[in-house]
Amino acid sequence: MNYWDERFETMSEEEMRNFQREHLGKTARWVYERIPFYRRKFDERGVKPDDIKTLEDLSRFPFTVKTDLRDNYPFGLCAVPLSEVVRIHASSGTTGKPITGPYTANDLEQWTECMARCLYAHGVRSNDICQNSYGMGLFTGGLGFHQGATRVGAAVIPVSSGQTERQIIIMKDFGTTVLFATPTYALTMAEKAEEMGIKLKDLPLRIGSFGAEPWTIEMRKEIENRTGIKAMECYGLTEFGGPGTGFDCVEQNGLHLNEDHFIFEIIDPVTEEVLPVGTKGELVITAIQREAMPLLRYRTRDITTLRREKCSCGRTLLKMDKIYGRSDDMLIIGGVNVFPSQIESILLEISEVEPQYVIIVRKKGYLDQIHADVEAKQEVYDLGPQKISEVEKMIEGKMRGIIGIGVKIRLVPPKSITRSEGKAKRVFDERKL
Ligand SMILES: [Zn+2]
Repeated sequence: MNYWDERFETMSEEEMRNFQREHLGKTARWVYERIPFYRRKFDERGVKPDDIKTLEDLSRFPFTVKTDLRDNYPFGLCAVPLSEVVRIHASSGTTGKPITGPYTANDLEQWTECMARCLYAHGVRSNDICQNSYGMGLFTGGLGFHQGATRVGAAVIPVSSGQTERQIIIMKDFGTTVLFATPTYALTMAEKAEEMGIKLKDLPLRIGSFGAEPWTIEMRKEIENRTGIKAMECYGLTEFGGPGTGFDCVEQNGLHLNEDHFIFEIIDPVTEEVLPVGTKGELVITAIQREAMPLLRYRTRDITTLRREKCSCGRTLLKMDKIYGRSDDMLIIGGVNVFPSQIESILLEISEVEPQYVIIVRKKGYLDQIHADVEAKQEVYDLGPQKISEVEKMIEGKMRGIIGIGVKIRLVPPKSITRSEGKAKRVFDERKL
């Protein structure tokens, strides 16, 4: 069996579009009849659910944005009575009110199936032992992976995040074959294993399913080189139930998207105009098989490109490039747009440094200045100040050449940057303070 759900994963484009149109119509009616927020938005725009005759008609409907979720906190966008809700997750809410994610029993089933499809495409099978190092709790990552792996029939170790040394011991003693974690935490674990004298490459570990934060292709290579595993990505958002929206197949060249559950559009973030497939822009998602909180045209702020192409794995599902960055994270330095991912890509190609860095943006007079502190490799650091200054200049030259702005580089001692057990905080914009 090559696919978890062959019918949908290999469906023709035409058949998929018909399926989407039918479910979009149902969802539009569902939210219009049940959620006052959507009824008002539809009425303001002068659109009715029955106006959806083709998929293109979706572009006439209003967007949903993050502040709409916050304004309707906690259950203003819930389409069902709480008696039908069986689970409630929430985002961390570090930047304001959290975002709540209510689920009906059918929503949990829908999510579990999406996750099973994702893990199966990564290569996870019933004989695998999955170490789930995502934080368990309100965060959707932990339970999402737990449910998906259980559905596939694999054994799950619900270890949660933290206590890295114990994680490595469990990994070795239990014979873990699959790791679920943020890419940042995978790197922290790889480093801890090296310190403990345990070679991850000698263990049965073979696949990692990583997500919950944007990471570059260079970061993927770094993790694969250090651990000897296939580092796969699983994409999703709390707003759509958590991970399981998109996933890497063995080709690792773009994430397949679960089109039978969601409709994907790319828009120009400024004009809000829908852009053709193949153009870079902001990802907009509409849920078409969810009951409790099916968001319509939700602006994710994630910047990416969609691709409709043949994949060697045989799936016909639309593909999405790795998330380039979030429009919220984009730094504007002296009028030039810079994504932290561009800086990461360059740093991770440099053999003299570790993949541990922080980016700091400051204002000096009227000028924006961007600094990056990056850890030197031990052997480089030991060579002393002259070598360090040489490497700093070399990296600064590359930054200027590739992204066209001056980034002030400072090599810091090995292990001096705080390690993360979950999502990393790597950018500090001091201009906003
Ligand atoms: Zn594929």
